Amino acid sequence: MGFMAGKRALIVGVASDRSIATGIAEAFAREGAELAFTYQNEKLQSRVEKLATRLGQDTDLLYPCDVSSDAEIAAVFEALAKQWDGLDVLVHSVGFAPRDQLEGGFTESVTREGYAIAHEISAYSLAGLAKAALPLLLQGNHPALLALTYNAATRVVPSYNVMGLAKASLESCVRFLAADLGPQGIRVNAISAGPVKTLAVAGISGFRKMLAYAEKSAPLRRTVTTVEIGNAAAFLCSDLASGITGETTFVDGGSNIMAMSLDD
Ligand code: NAD
Repeated sequence: MGFMAGKRALIVGVASDRSIATGIAEAFAREGAELAFTYQNEKLQSRVEKLATRLGQDTDLLYPCDVSSDAEIAAVFEALAKQWDGLDVLVHSVGFAPRDQLEGGFTESVTREGYAIAHEISAYSLAGLAKAALPLLLQGNHPALLALTYNAATRVVPSYNVMGLAKASLESCVRFLAADLGPQGIRVNAISAGPVKTLAVAGISGFRKMLAYAEKSAPLRRTVTTVEIGNAAAFLCSDLASGITGETTFVDGGSNIMAMSLDD
């Protein structure tokens, strides 16, 4: 029996087989969790359906949810409440900024609109989902929330620009939610993942160089896999991590501890 047996988890953020959320779903399923998923739009529906089928999950528990819509967020939990009498895990693996925000210098690229969109989709959505999920989470079994962040929240990464600010907001949101929901037994954590080639990073100018830099400068001398991120996520969302909340855990091969690399 896996260490997530009996856990009911909603996963927000599957877009492809390479998605970090896919690695998380695989680890959760392997450890015995029951899964529900959202998908951003119809284009992604069949991919999420295929994943649910591959993992032996109930394909009735798939819900459309563009996180820019309060109505769609509310509808997810209304529908889920008809299927489950509680929610134990909510995974937020969502990030977006318009492509023009992710190239060039920060000062040159940042716009009022780009800033607002990046923060709304990548940071506010965690609060919005937590708020709408709260009644179900309160009926859950030692509930836990998890968000995915990146080291550019606290350090400057070229081209990441306004997404770095959005990740800083997301990490702060994790801490505020953890403090607010902790008295009700709900834990909230983040994983700061090293670079992984997914759809979301396709728009980041110079991403290939970032991967190469991580490979040569990380203490483990390689990038991480979505399976490794999924394993850490499973731990953090399971009762094995019952004493951990408000934390950002790095799954990056140790990259974050390095001030610089002298290797070519
Ligand atoms: P991905 O493209 O596979 O996943 C991003 C997800 O965000 C997609 O499922 C997409 O549908 C969803 N999304 C975007 N806008 C949305 C909206 N308006 N409504 C609902 N969903 C929306 O890429 P990923 O790399 O797996 O990203 C998942 C998370 O991991 C993001 O928060 C990302 O910032 C974070 N992260 C990624 C890396 C990396 O290098 N790939 C590193 C650290 C953190």
